[in-house]
Amino acid sequence: MNIRYEILDKSLQRKLPKTDKPLPFGQLRTNHMFVMNYKDGAWVDPRIVPYGPFELMPGAMCLHYGQTIFEGAKAFIHDNGEIYLFRYDKNCNRLNHSARNLCMPEIPESFQMEAALRLIDIERDWCPDMPESSLYIRPFMFATQDSLGVKPASEYIYCVMLSPAGPYYPGGFSRAVRLLISKKYHRAVSGGTGTSKCGGNYAASLQAQQYAKDRGCDQVLYLDAGNEFLEEVGTMNHYHVEKDGTFVIPTFNDSILKSVPSQSALELASLGIIKARQEDIRLDDFLLKLKSGEIIEAGGFGTAAVVSPVGSYALEDGSEYTVGNGEVGEHTRNFYAYYTGLQLGKTQAPEGWVVKVPRY
Ligand SMILES: *Cc1c(COP(=O)(O)O)cnc(C)c1O
Repeated sequence: MNIRYEILDKSLQRKLPKTDKPLPFGQLRTNHMFVMNYKDGAWVDPRIVPYGPFELMPGAMCLHYGQTIFEGAKAFIHDNGEIYLFRYDKNCNRLNHSARNLCMPEIPESFQMEAALRLIDIERDWCPDMPESSLYIRPFMFATQDSLGVKPASEYIYCVMLSPAGPYYPGGFSRAVRLLISKKYHRAVSGGTGTSKCGGNYAASLQAQQYAKDRGCDQVLYLDAGNEFLEEVGTMNHYHVEKDGTFVIPTFNDSILKSVPSQSALELASLGIIKARQEDIRLDDFLLKLKSGEIIEAGGFGTAAVVSPVGSYALEDGSEYTVGNGEVGEHTRNFYAYYTGLQLGKTQAPEGWVVKVPRY
């Protein structure tokens, strides 16, 4: 790939703030970003340029009809001082899945990979080496064609920006979250865009999130549109842990987004490292097993936090269910420790899970 570099003069470059406090999540920006345009059926002018505003026509179709998709991944510094991407191939693959789902152009995975590696190479001083910190990678694509007709746009921008990030839960899991199981709101339906990371799914989830907050809950655990089966949390896949330590994840269907940590949990299970499986989970059965104590832990799998333990569920009829004793369980803690060990290179990860950022 022939990338054009427009690098800021050293004297104008900002630096990663030096602080003992945990970095915020998602607030900081590095000096540069990767950008390229799609025009006349091809991706053109790949470039690394100073981070700054885009020029966009008011008629840009992303602003009206929502052709916007994104990804989220992390890079880590290992003890040898080198930076490694963690499972970024999964994100490249999923971006193309989202692109197909929203009639947007795909980008070869190797091209996406190289864009991130080259950008991170330029910004290597921004990868924090504090505990539980990472360089968060946010690739995204949106329609820029200036047209008011409803159809797939013919012009797009693909961009990768970086954000040095601290732990999602500074100081560790201080508490398990409370989820609202809603029969009123749905995140996605079969035949829609639920398997894709698109802006519209998030816009549609905001009022449900507000509704959950108003009921003293942290997030919504969504059901399928028929209110029969568990699906996922708005930003995480759901899991529960059975008495024998098996993680159970709802079967991926066409309204659940496949989270990288839950895919990883299933792969680790196939290697015999942990116990995990998928099945269709009926709400009724789930509630009975919570009550009987057959379910001992629950949580969410997602790249941002790796795992978010769930302590209790609330239903709209006012009923309440506690998971175990409502505290963070050992299987959840162990998975977190093991997974972050893989990310940081403390434990040898399966073949291909980590990719070193070359010094170009
Ligand atoms: C991003 C996202 C997840 C988590 O996926 P990761 O691969 O862990 O980032 C789960 N559910 C939805 C709906 C998402 O958008």
